[in-house]
Amino acid sequence: MGDSYDEECDYLFKAVMIGDSAVGKSNLLSRFARDEFRLDSKPTIGVEFAYRNIKVGDKLIKAQIWDTAGQERFRAITSSYYRGALGALLVYDITRRQTFENTKKWLRELREFGNSCMAIVLVGNKSDLSHSREVEEEEGKNLAETEGLYFMETSAMENLNVEDAFLQMINKIHECTIQKSL
Ligand code: GDP
Repeated sequence: MGDSYDEECDYLFKAVMIGDSAVGKSNLLSRFARDEFRLDSKPTIGVEFAYRNIKVGDKLIKAQIWDTAGQERFRAITSSYYRGALGALLVYDITRRQTFENTKKWLRELREFGNSCMAIVLVGNKSDLSHSREVEEEEGKNLAETEGLYFMETSAMENLNVEDAFLQMINKIHECTIQKSL
């Protein structure tokens, strides 16, 4: 597995991070892309993206993952953010119930603007904060089942299940989209 920016790859695809502000989207992404955890810092405007190369079978896939860079705070996410995305990580914070309730709103938006066969993983982040938990794991699972999503609880801080959540999405994209086009 390499992670140089312009390494030759067989496929390039786009995926998006989505969910309420401060649920941990950018920390999850930096964990996955660069294996680091950031306590603050974020660009003020625009969209951030990160790349990561992943070997699936004998194919090298380059995942280009977009992050909101704080725009969700102002509801400034536009349809171009979703355009062409084949996968999404829909993130909530297990210690803030409202962020879980709001996943339904994000899901409607994803379905309105996104690709019809998008691979969506519902992610309950901050599992390290179990003493302040407001959303049970079972509730996340149930919602995912009802909505036809994949589900995982993660901790960006402790690097728990982060890799798995992204890989689940990437493998699904590979199965659904790339293999069909071969
Ligand atoms: P974003 O606005 O959704 O991109 O959220 P950030 O990645 O900026 O994270 C928001 C805050 O939550 C920051 O203070 C992070 O340090 C913190 N945070 C993110 N992930 C975790 C986690 O897994 N556990 C804990 N305890 N804090 C986290």
